[in-house]
Amino acid sequence: MNLSRRGFFKLTGATFAAGALAELFGPSNAFAADAVPEMRITGATESTSICCYCGVGCGMVLSVKDGELINLEGDPDHPINRGALCSKGNAQFNIRNVYDPETGDLMLNPARITKVKYRAPGASEWEEKDWEWAIDEIAKRIKATRDASYTAVDANGITVNRCEAIANLGGAALDGEEGYVLSKFARALGVVWIDHQARI
Ligand code: SF4
Repeated sequence: MNLSRRGFFKLTGATFAAGALAELFGPSNAFAADAVPEMRITGATESTSICCYCGVGCGMVLSVKDGELINLEGDPDHPINRGALCSKGNAQFNIRNVYDPETGDLMLNPARITKVKYRAPGASEWEEKDWEWAIDEIAKRIKATRDASYTAVDANGITVNRCEAIANLGGAALDGEEGYVLSKFARALGVVWIDHQARI
């Protein structure tokens, strides 16, 4: 058979189109609606968040259905990671949920920590506390440390109004606005050692 280049493309194109039509409308229709499994996130509400682990600050899309987180993936619209997450960021789903190894059902991670854990100085055991207690305790300790270390005027007689006994380190999950408010709060206390994990 003497076939020109153009003829070859016409012939192979027609063969492919015939095959695709047969596949679409034939008895073994792989594209039939009932042959496509329902997506896990169908009917879920999506919201965006930021990975809590490292200073890269990758964006994520969280899917929630019936009050449960059912999926977590990289946010394709986020300018930093553009949809990608490293293995640690991907595993973040398991902070809250795991799949039951026997039934395959989604369940709350039994190892998840949901209460404040406190270990007193010198103690070997952790105690469970509530957030009210923890916040009051943090406030008390900040005030005591600041009162004990505050320098209003330095050795040269210069007004400095600073507290050098406290440092403030922002976490990776903070966004720019939260970091701004936190640094204002720290400066209002006179704290001079201020840094952020994203910079480290
Ligand atoms: S996904 Fe990985 S690289 Fe991105 S912020 Fe989380 S830990 Fe860092």
